[in-house]
Amino acid sequence: MNVGVCEWKFRAMKDRSLNAGAAPNGLIIVNRGIVEYAANEEEVALVIAHEIGHQAANHIATGQRNQAVGALVGAILLGAAGAAASYRSPNSTQITRSAVDAGANVGGAIGRISFSKEQEREADYLAAVILYRSNIDLDKARGFLVTMARASGRKETGMLDTHPAGPERIAGWDRAVAEIRASNGGLPQRA
Ligand SMILES: [Zn+2]
Repeated sequence: MNVGVCEWKFRAMKDRSLNAGAAPNGLIIVNRGIVEYAANEEEVALVIAHEIGHQAANHIATGQRNQAVGALVGAILLGAAGAAASYRSPNSTQITRSAVDAGANVGGAIGRISFSKEQEREADYLAAVILYRSNIDLDKARGFLVTMARASGRKETGMLDTHPAGPERIAGWDRAVAEIRASNGGLPQRA
């Protein structure tokens, strides 16, 4: 592993949008929205482990070069969150729109750093390893990716393909989990 940071700090934000992030110096930010939209603790653990994965693989150092698109990524992610939330709400259109608006703002705060698709895959893989070794139910945690995938199928979140969500990400997760279970939590050689 290309470890940049071994000590992580966690910050819980009051923001009710569905977002989380990894920032320099081991900072991991989790919005209240993650907890509200998650179906169980395992799903929240997946989000946190994913951000730890970004830190552990030292993605922050390279991600900082991509700051310019951070706000855009934030808007896309939160647009998806709004769509996901709307499944449970009669005011779906309004919620989605306000989530996109909020997303552009939060993107400036949380989404200053964006990662490549390969880095996102790697963060998911590391998240699965972390959860496996922590005895957290990987199948329950997977539900969060399903929620994201459902959101990505919505018309208003068509730009979501720049952020990993959907069948491809779930398939990657399932492959990772199968490998990790077979190796009893081992890490593969880094490419
Ligand atoms: Zn990520």
